[in-house]
Amino acid sequence: MVAVFDGKNGEWQAEVAEAGKRKGILVCVEESAPQMDPPDLWLLFAPIKKARTDFIVEKAAEMGARRIVPVQTDFTNSERIRQDRLQAHAVEAAEQCGGTYVPEVADLEKLESMLANWPEDRKLMFCDEAEAGNQLFLDQTDDGSPWAILIGPEGGFSDAERARLKSLPFAHVVSLGPRILRADTAAVAAMTLWQQTLGDWR
Ligand code: SAM
Repeated sequence: MVAVFDGKNGEWQAEVAEAGKRKGILVCVEESAPQMDPPDLWLLFAPIKKARTDFIVEKAAEMGARRIVPVQTDFTNSERIRQDRLQAHAVEAAEQCGGTYVPEVADLEKLESMLANWPEDRKLMFCDEAEAGNQLFLDQTDDGSPWAILIGPEGGFSDAERARLKSLPFAHVVSLGPRILRADTAAVAAMTLWQQTLGDWR
């Protein structure tokens, strides 16, 4: 028997009915874990160097992000990502942590176009190292709306982006403490903060 999952229908024990060189057939016999979808959290991040971008996707999948969106900001260096590679990392991470859900990794999108088409009820946790001392009390802003977290690139956000983000009614600017964290550290810290207050751990 082997354990199989497709990210949508739980985990199943399956028998190998046919094993060829290029393809095989598995027959699902019984469900071994029910489908468990994480809370509705998106992670938006500006892609950085390859290994650290891979790390962010892997950790976001482990931490229970439902959707992962690489965004191009004013100071983002990469103009392209390998969406298929990143999606494969998300599958591996879900496998590794025993999850039955695989987050969708979107293709690279311009931050501005995302903001212009923002879903009406979703709140945005805008993580900005320039906001030292601006603690966000997530539980006090909670009205049941879904959230997205936004993490910037190595150079942070431009002044124009900061001004734009701060003018948006759905955006809540937040400090993750007095030190400037690397973008990959900041992504994990922000997801931990959110999960602890509003997510799976409640
Ligand atoms: N140069 C470092 C690097 O190579 O990763 C630091 C990058 S930091 C500017 C990248 C992003 O992490 C920021 O745009 C912000 O979203 C987030 N970040 C880092 N430290 C933070 C803090 N103390 N509070 C809030 N956000 C923070």
